[in-house]
Amino acid sequence: MENKLIKEEISEQFYLYKNKLGIPKEITLSFKGIGDSGMYTMFNSIIIENKTVKQWTTNPHRTKFVIIHELVHGKFKELKNPFYIAFPFLIPPAVSLKYAMRELRANTIAHEKLDCSHEVLEDYFTNYCNIKDTSTNLALGYVSGITYINLIKSNPIWNKQAIEDALEHFTSEYPGFRKISLRKLEKIKSAFIQQL
Ligand SMILES: [Zn+2]
Repeated sequence: MENKLIKEEISEQFYLYKNKLGIPKEITLSFKGIGDSGMYTMFNSIIIENKTVKQWTTNPHRTKFVIIHELVHGKFKELKNPFYIAFPFLIPPAVSLKYAMRELRANTIAHEKLDCSHEVLEDYFTNYCNIKDTSTNLALGYVSGITYINLIKSNPIWNKQAIEDALEHFTSEYPGFRKISLRKLEKIKSAFIQQL
């Protein structure tokens, strides 16, 4: 398929899911970069990288997963502090936990909008978005693919239970998060519940 046509079809999906997610504000879509993911930027735009575009003809659900994931970040205006991106080891644990909850929410909602298909979920995190379990990734809110698969399978819908279970999992599984005060944990929990 011709690249221009692929991009037209992807744009169509982008606006379809933007409506489905109830996002009224203007978010633009652009195609940039050679990588295999997407990004929500401070200019209120979503960038889809070339390898994600290329998935469209063979594995369209992977492209859709990325689109929905980034749209969820856009819906809640979730930008990471650029200073923290440059120096992830300086990120306070409570901020990392908030980032981890954002990533899980974006992934859970993508799964939800793709009909909660286990096949799609497993393919995406096993064969495509294979996140390495490193301290840098965790600081930026990313956990391993298998963790996303397990957490999302046990709570396929993003609701109060999913939020509580995720916080319980993250704080018991990752030693760095155990230092976070109860007051801060409550604050993170109620912020996510309020956005339901
Ligand atoms: Zn993300």
